[in-house]
Amino acid sequence: MNDKKYIAILGAGESGTGAAMLAKKLGWEIFLSDKGEIKSEYRNKLDKAGIDYESGKHTAKKILNADLIIKSPGIPPTSPLISEASKKGIEIISEIEFGFRHCKGKIIAVTGSNGKTTTSHLIQHILTKAGKKSALVGNVGKSFAGSIAEEDHDYYVIEVSSFQLDDIIRFKPDISILLNITPDHLDRYEYNLQNYIDSKFRIIENANDDSYFIYNLDDEVITKELEKRKTMAHLMPFTIKTTVAEGACLKDDQLYINLNKNQFKMSVHELALQGKHNIYNSMAASIAGRILELRKDVIRESLTDFQNIEHRLEFVMNVHGISFINDSKATNVNSSWYALESIEKNIVWIVGGVDKGNDYSQMIELVAEKVKAIVCLGKDNKKIIDVFSSIIPNISEAGSALEAVKQAYEFGSKGDTVLLSPACASFDLFDNYEDRGHQFKKAVRSL
Ligand code: ADP
Repeated sequence: MNDKKYIAILGAGESGTGAAMLAKKLGWEIFLSDKGEIKSEYRNKLDKAGIDYESGKHTAKKILNADLIIKSPGIPPTSPLISEASKKGIEIISEIEFGFRHCKGKIIAVTGSNGKTTTSHLIQHILTKAGKKSALVGNVGKSFAGSIAEEDHDYYVIEVSSFQLDDIIRFKPDISILLNITPDHLDRYEYNLQNYIDSKFRIIENANDDSYFIYNLDDEVITKELEKRKTMAHLMPFTIKTTVAEGACLKDDQLYINLNKNQFKMSVHELALQGKHNIYNSMAASIAGRILELRKDVIRESLTDFQNIEHRLEFVMNVHGISFINDSKATNVNSSWYALESIEKNIVWIVGGVDKGNDYSQMIELVAEKVKAIVCLGKDNKKIIDVFSSIIPNISEAGSALEAVKQAYEFGSKGDTVLLSPACASFDLFDNYEDRGHQFKKAVRSL
C-alpha cells in the first residue's frame, strides 16, 4: 500500500501541515498549497521538513498532477479547482481520512453540535488515568495525521466537526459518539438542516458489527434519523429521561452504565462537571470507557477529578458573595440554555454578540424562571431586548467586557451568579471566544 505517491495538500493550517508531515514520513512526494498567508509556525515546520509549498495562490498545474489531494475543511467542494480535480478523477479526501488510512490505534470519534471538546477531554482523561497511550486530536488542536506522523498511539480520541466528516471515504471509528444535533453552521449546508444531519451521521457510514455507536436517545433529531437508517454498529444510547438495558441512564440521581449485563453506577453529585448537559457528556464518556474495558474505579475517579476546560462554565471567582462564571464558548442558543439550566436561580446573564440566526423564544420560560437581569454585550442587541424586555425589566447594554462586568455587578447582590454565556459568536467586539472569555475574567478580577 505504501507505493510512493505524489500528494497535493490544499490549505496549510493545522490539518494540512499535519497531513504533510505524515506524507513525508511515508516517503511521498508532496506539494502543499495555500491561497492565503501561511502562519509562520507552520512555515517553519514545512521548511524544516524540506516540504515544497506555496502561499498566496494555487498553481493548478502542480495540483492537478497529483495522485491524491487532501483538502482543508475550509475549502468548499464547489471551488473550481476541486471541481476540476474531481473531473480528472483525482481522489480528494480530508486529513481525517488520510490519518485513518495510516492509523494503527483504536479510534474514538466524538461529534455533535455542542459538548465535543468537553467529552473528548473527558475520554482522554479516563484513558490517561487508565495508563493507556492515547492522543487527543482533531478539532481540539493537534491534527490527527500530524500526531500519527510524530508517533503511534494505541488510542486516538478525535473531536470531529461536520466539515471534517464531509470528505471521508473509509473513515471508520471503533467507537462513534453523537452528542446532539441542533441547528448550527447552516450557512455551510444551504440552510438545510437535513444536510447538516447527513453530515453528522457520516460518522457511522462505514460502521460494521465491530463498531459501537454511542448516541443521545433524548435528542429527537438523532432518534428520528436513526430510524431511517440501517447501521451494523452496536447501539449504545444514553438518556436522562428513560431507562435502557444497554447504554446509560439516570435514576434517583444515580448514573447507570449498562454493558453486556455488567453495571457501573455512580452518583451525579460526584461528577466534577455539573449541569444536565454534563451528565450527558459524562454518560457518553463512561460508555466509551466501559466498551474499552477500562476499570470502573478508574472511570469513577476520572469523572470526579476532571478539571473543566477554560471558557466552558468556568468558575472565575466570588466577589462580595456574587459568583462569576465564564461560559464564553457558548456560541449558540442550545449551549446557553444548558448553562442557565445548570444554575439554580438569581442569574445576571451577560448575553449577545454576533447572532447566527438565533431563535430565543425557546429560552423564554427558563429565563423567566432563573434570570433577574440581562446585560447585552454586543453591537446590535435589538433582538435580545425585543424578546426579553417584557419578562426581564432590568436590561442594560454594554460595549466592552469591562462595562458588562461592572453593570452585572451593579445588578447583582449576595448569593447571585453573574453568567457570561453569550449564545452568540464574538466577532463584533472580540477576536474570538477565547479573547471574550479572557477579557471577561480580567474585568472580574479588576472589580
Ligand atoms: P464543542 O466542542 O462541541 O463546541 P464544548 O465542549 O466546547 O463543545 O462546549 C461548548 C458549549 O456548549 C459550552 O458553553 C458548554 O457549556 C456547552 N455544552 C457542553 N456540552 C453540552 C451538551 N452536551 N449539550 C449542550 N451544551 C453543551
